[in-house]
This record gives sequence, structure tokens and C-alpha cells, in this order.
Amino acid sequence: MAKIQYDEIMVRYGELSTKGHNKKSFIDRLGTNVRKALHDFDAVKVHANPDRLHVLLNGADSDQVIERLKKVFGIQTFSPSLRVEKDFAAVCAAARALIAKQVDHPVTFKVETKRSDHKFPMGTFEMNRELGGYLLKEFPDLLTVDVHQPDIEIRVEIRLNGIFLTSEIIKGAGGLPVGSAGKGMMMLSGGIDSPVAAYLAMKRGVSLEMVHFYSPPYTSEQALAKAKELTGKLAQYSGSIRFIQVPFTEIQETVKEKVPEGYLMTVQRRFMLRLAVEIAKRRHGLAIFNGESLGQVASQTMESMLAIEAVTNLPVLRPVLSYDKTEIIKIAEQIDTYDLSILPYEDCCTVFTPPSPKTKPNLEKAAKYEGWLDVEGLMERALAGIKIEEIHAGQEFLNQNEDVFAELL
Ligand code: ATP
Ligand code: MG
Repeated sequence: MAKIQYDEIMVRYGELSTKGHNKKSFIDRLGTNVRKALHDFDAVKVHANPDRLHVLLNGADSDQVIERLKKVFGIQTFSPSLRVEKDFAAVCAAARALIAKQVDHPVTFKVETKRSDHKFPMGTFEMNRELGGYLLKEFPDLLTVDVHQPDIEIRVEIRLNGIFLTSEIIKGAGGLPVGSAGKGMMMLSGGIDSPVAAYLAMKRGVSLEMVHFYSPPYTSEQALAKAKELTGKLAQYSGSIRFIQVPFTEIQETVKEKVPEGYLMTVQRRFMLRLAVEIAKRRHGLAIFNGESLGQVASQTMESMLAIEAVTNLPVLRPVLSYDKTEIIKIAEQIDTYDLSILPYEDCCTVFTPPSPKTKPNLEKAAKYEGWLDVEGLMERALAGIKIEEIHAGQEFLNQNEDVFAELL
């Protein structure tokens, strides 16, 4: 179908229009996020008005801008529009292009005109009738009029600064603008679940920082790179995301050496959570997010959550708690993290997972075994080894040549 270079995109707000007194800060936030998502289109201007947000393209490629907008949370729908001179022939030409782009089989349509410039010689009824008649003549095999439930509406707005035509309504990502719900720490592994949990948290307006535990030399550089690349994928929904890598080797070795096998998992998880909480406190995070789903594996029972969560009173939020694996995988495919997640680089947990962890760990026992360890010291040293970097949308980290080298050797 024909490509159209649009002039402006009109964005309709989602849930935020119902947010009462928060409305202004939500709209400001969305404006900021849209500007961030489009930062490399120099000519683009964004006006976040109380009722609608307008993106003025000033020549920027509308197809590319549209793809970016589809990933910005807080947008319900948006409509690209064409702006023409205040002249009926120009309106006809633009409407013709809109139909040619969208319609390839017979549909019903109507023209709906609004006029705020009352000096324009044609009234709204006249415009509806004349433009409708013109389009019927141009596309006799494709169009019939239905004023009640048309498949397609050509909306014409006669404004002071020109005439705007829109037709297509594109579905936005929904949700709330990232950042409007505050900041949270996401425990991001290289698995399938935590990236999906991160996506869902961001969709509810949470600005995330990723906390990733790695255990060299038990885990490879590639495993770390994979977690970073996943972060790059997720950053498409928020512009950029901080990635905090936490060395976990000493803790895992110590736990493995001193704690009975049935409690290795529980005690490791308690350390991870303590560290994530400490990082949240230092960085003004309000909650910890993880990718646990109830009953999925041994560590994801309610008994286990109770024993692990006892180390903190910060909320531990689990966006995929009630999702089946197949549902999680479906989202992972939609957000394009699945193929990365299934790459076979071991993360720090798989390496130290005992064959049969307790599914119903006991909190007192977990605390007792930890009493045999220098919890404070282990925490301090892990925190001292933290590295933080900012990862941008689409940034890549996996060594694409790895396979080639492996074949050469
Ligand atoms: P995922 O697919 O997200 O790895 P999973 O089903 O494999 O989840 P686990 O490996 O038991 O389950 O991990 C449960 C959760 O603990 C993860 O979703 C993640 O939030 C957190 N987690 C596990 N390993 C790490 C890690 N190396 N760094 C940070 N968080 C982790
Ligand atoms: Mg995992």
C-alpha cells in the first residue's frame, strides 16, 4: 500500500485522563517520555496539552515515529494526520491519499467535519457531503457510505492554522507513563520471566533499575552480556535503564560451603533480596520487583516466599505471579526478549542450584543457618563491588562473533 508522509500525530491519553488532580503531572511525564523516545528526531516538536498530545513532525519520517510511539506507555490510541492549505481541492487530494493507503477491499465510510475557523467558506455539512461525494467517485468499487457504523471515518478539522485530516486510529501501548508510579528495583536474571515482569511493571508506570547478580568465574561474560542486552530491549519502553551488576561469587561459595543443601536456595535468595533492598534504599527505590510465578519452581511456593521475604519490609512485587508459563512466553515473544532469554548461558542460580531444594523451607531454620555466616561482611563486600551503567534502547552487548570463533577453533 502507498506510503504517506504525515505532518502531525495526535495522541489520545489512556487511563490518565481519569486521574483527577494527578492529571497534570501525568501529562507532563508523558510529554517528557515521548520527547525522550523521539530525541534523535531533531525537527520533531511535542506539545502535551490537557486534552491531547500533539507531535509535530516537521518532516521527520512518520513511519519511524509511529513505531516509537507504539512503545510509549500511557498512550491509548493515536492518529497520524495530514495538514493542508485551506482549500477544498487540497482537502480532496489528502483524503484520497488516506483512503488509498488504508483501503484495499470494499468498506463503508463517512466523513466527519469539525470547524473552529468559522471564516472558512464551507460549513461542516457541506464539507461532509462534498468530500464524501468526491471520494465515492474516486473509489466507486471500494467505498459505500454508512453514517452510523462506518468501517472508516475520515475526520476533517478546519482550524485557524490549516485543515487537518485523520483517519487511521493506531492502538498505543496502554498503561501509565513510566516514572509516574515511582522507582523500583527489578531483580533481572537472564531468564524468560524477569524481563516480562519488568515490562509489566513499567507498563504500570514504574521506573526500573535492573539489579543483576553474577558469579564469575562460574558464570560467563556472555551471561552478563545477555542480561545487559535484555535491558537494552526493555529500555525501548522507557528510553534508558540503569543496570546494576552485583558480584555474588563469594556469597554463593560461602553459602554452598556452610549451609545444608536443602537450604542453599533459600539462603542465597535471602542474600539477593537483602542486597536488592540495600540498593533500593541507597537509590530511593520504593519496592523490589522479581519474576517469580507461584508454583513454577521449588523456590516459588508461598512458604518459600515467606522465608525469603522475611529479610525485608519493603514490598516485594511479582508482576507475573499468576501467569502460566505459556502466557509469560507469549508476552516475551511480543516484546522480543524470548530469543535472548533462551540462549544457553548459565546464570548464577542455575550453577548453584541443588538437585532438590526444599519446597517448604522453614524460616527459623533459614535464619539459624545464616547465623553461621558473616552476613554483614558478605553484604558489605558485595556492595563494594557493584558496577552501574546506563543502558540505552536497543543497545547490544552479546558478541556476535562468538559462534564464528567457536567454529574456527
Ligand atoms: P527467570 O526466568 O526470571 O530467571 P525463573 O523461573 O528462572 O525466573 P528463578 O531462576 O528461580 O526463576 O528466579 C526467580 C527470580 O529471582 C527471577 O525472576 C529474578 O527476578 C530473580 N533472579 C534470579 N536470578 C537472578 C540473578 N542472577 N540476578 C538478579 N535476579 C535474579
Ligand atoms: Mg532463572
